[in-house]
Amino acid sequence: MSVPVFQEILLKLAARCNLNCTYCYWFRDQSVYSKPPILTSEAEKAFLSRLEVHIQSYHLASMTLILHGGEPLLFGKARFVGLMDALDAIEARTGCTIMRTVTTNAVLIDTEWIQIFRLFNVHVTVSVDGPAAVHDRARIDLQGRGTYERVRSGIQCLRAQQIEPSVLAVCDPASNPATTVQHFVEILGLSAFDILVPDAIHDDHPPSIAPYYLTLFDLWYDTYLKQGISIRYFETLVASLIASLTSATTINYNPVQTLTVLTDGAIEPVDVLRIAGNSSTHTALNVHTNALQELADDPLWRMAYRATCELPTVCQQCRYSSVCAGGYLPHRWSSERQYDNPSVYCSDLLQIYDHIWERIIPEIQLESGQSSYSLLDLLKIVQEGTYNALGSK
Ligand code: SF4
Repeated sequence: MSVPVFQEILLKLAARCNLNCTYCYWFRDQSVYSKPPILTSEAEKAFLSRLEVHIQSYHLASMTLILHGGEPLLFGKARFVGLMDALDAIEARTGCTIMRTVTTNAVLIDTEWIQIFRLFNVHVTVSVDGPAAVHDRARIDLQGRGTYERVRSGIQCLRAQQIEPSVLAVCDPASNPATTVQHFVEILGLSAFDILVPDAIHDDHPPSIAPYYLTLFDLWYDTYLKQGISIRYFETLVASLIASLTSATTINYNPVQTLTVLTDGAIEPVDVLRIAGNSSTHTALNVHTNALQELADDPLWRMAYRATCELPTVCQQCRYSSVCAGGYLPHRWSSERQYDNPSVYCSDLLQIYDHIWERIIPEIQLESGQSSYSLLDLLKIVQEGTYNALGSK
């Protein structure tokens, strides 16, 4: 099995959070409490050394570093600036561009943080779930209080200083999607965002998401798309459906390629896989003793990688297999069959794909100027790739 060279690294600046969001996958694994609260100085130094060797060994021209938590801003400004300076020095020595993005709940953002982000060209991704009535159901602080107003203040502070954050929401299937989209567009003034499927595994038996996404798609397709509003989930799906029609390469069939470094220097597969339970992403690797690329030989990582290169058994006859490829990897997990399952949301996904397909196919057939947006318009969405500008949760 040929494996990729890691070019996307998720660095945990903090293993703790200042919020207590009800759906957070990170704290489902109690082993995170045994990790240092923030990235230790020793682990940071060892990581930077490993990173430089990795870039040189594989002659990387560019790579992505996702600064993550917990809440990454708990790392503190002085340590953050020191890390950025060290990354700049690696760039100067190697010629490799290290793209940096931070995923934050925005509660701690202030003018000084924004100056730091600007100075070091750090892209900012903010998690906000909708208006206060939606957001505050799940995104609460350690005292159980809603955080919407503090998050909104952080977003306004960013935008006032010309930093346009990517915005990620998690779908609350019990809420009205119209309220959330209207809030994002009209109150927060956003033109691009994503509304993510809640993370869940088969053992969780999550509620249905299809009614929410069917309503959301119609809203977007009939109203907001024409206003230039980008919702990554739908752009990705439309692109995949068009690609399957045109036999182009599909975009959902991508192997998992993110490497995670924890606050003690532990090297693990992409962190969302820890949704499978305690120590489910644990390896014996650490930046103090191992090269970054050694993760590719780890049995746990290889199991996840292989799973994203092969269809689950049930999916092999599915009419949407080239679009969906079994769904998002963590959603395939069950304690009984591991990754050899269709997505826990499979029946919802089938409804969503059918609905989108039925909606877009008349537009594709009317491509020669009879409709407001044709197949060419839709392909333009794919080519412009606005969904790629958004970060990870
Ligand atoms: S998860 Fe469901 S919709 Fe997706 S490929 Fe498998 S069977 Fe098809």
